[in-house]
Amino acid sequence: MGEKKTFRIDTEVIHRGYEASLFEGSLVPPIFQTSTYCFANAEQGEKRFAGEESGYIYSRLGNPTVSILEERMAAIEKGEAALAFGSGMAAVSAVLVSLTKAGDHVLCSQGVYGCTFGLLKMLNHKYQITYTFSEMESKEQLLQAIKPETTCIYVETPINPTMKLVDLEMVAAVGKEKGIPVVVDNTFCSPYLQTPLELGCDVVVHSATKYICGHGDVIAGIVVGKRDFLQEVAMTTQKDIGGIISPFDAWLLLRGLKTLPVRMDRHCENAREIYSFLNEHGAVNQVFFPGDSRHPDFPIMKKQMRQAGGLLSFTLHGGVEEAQKFMNRLQLIKIAVSLGDAETLIQHPATMTHSVVPKEEREKMGIQDNLIRLSVGLEAWEDIQEDLDQALSTLI
Ligand SMILES: *Cc1c(COP(=O)(O)O)cnc(C)c1O
Repeated sequence: MGEKKTFRIDTEVIHRGYEASLFEGSLVPPIFQTSTYCFANAEQGEKRFAGEESGYIYSRLGNPTVSILEERMAAIEKGEAALAFGSGMAAVSAVLVSLTKAGDHVLCSQGVYGCTFGLLKMLNHKYQITYTFSEMESKEQLLQAIKPETTCIYVETPINPTMKLVDLEMVAAVGKEKGIPVVVDNTFCSPYLQTPLELGCDVVVHSATKYICGHGDVIAGIVVGKRDFLQEVAMTTQKDIGGIISPFDAWLLLRGLKTLPVRMDRHCENAREIYSFLNEHGAVNQVFFPGDSRHPDFPIMKKQMRQAGGLLSFTLHGGVEEAQKFMNRLQLIKIAVSLGDAETLIQHPATMTHSVVPKEEREKMGIQDNLIRLSVGLEAWEDIQEDLDQALSTLI
């Protein structure tokens, strides 16, 4: 499939990986809702199991609807291949378990997704795999944090919910120098805003639940990277742990993906408007948004992101009580975790996504009791702004 003409991302998200003529001319990929595939004869079954003949065997090992999604995701993330999973965490765990064995070490960016942190803790308790966190602010800092037993560098950028950024090109260069694979959780950006593989990183993981799906109706995950590595994941942690995606969910992701560029442009535009509004509001203390030219990581944003994204966080004057009072006054904006949906979603990290992190640790990560995270949706930004404004006015 290597010689296929490549198009711009706006076109690839609609067409890549699907050939209507192979499916009775159906414009839209069919949902192959089947668990298994009938062999023409016993010998064909033998050949497929031996890998001597290509073709489907059983849907945990491959499914046509899922394959279309995987080819499309590989193309837009600029990778050789992709694998789809039943959740972002199934994707993250398949990669981390593939890259580590007892006694190995994982170096993480400061602040990773809560369940990724939970997974690392579990791997530590059960298999003595260690992990440490680094700000990853410079090459020297990174080199100091690497141990002889480090087998994976794991990065999230922007970091949730403080919106700090990590320079992916710098981390990729260190990974190359040391021969350590660099894994990037690209959930917050989607490939429309950031393509870590083009910056030299080795593996991208996604919670496709978020911007990839975009409609808040699927839990799914994606891994993109080199063909050899993904083949190994497919035959080990994907096949034998088994966190696969359903054909219907793959179909919903294919449907959502078609509008990814259109949606992301709108998310980004709305977020810029809401950032300007919050930045000037008297009831708001501080706003964290990578598109803020005074944000310390603004140069990194310019370098590696095409736009600043649809997420921002801000602090109010006061603590938990004021934050909750404000959130309870909202009428349009929904109080919910997750992100990247058409609906604007708001959550309070200290009592929700990061409530399991002890307060002291939280504050070290920059998560104050008055910090609020907003996933700016696709509504008219004026309506989002008016809702925020009426709820903020109660705090003044
Ligand atoms: C949501 C999320 C995950 C986990 O994905 P699920 O689809 O919920 O399993 C991982 N990383 C990031 C950055 C996320 O936002």
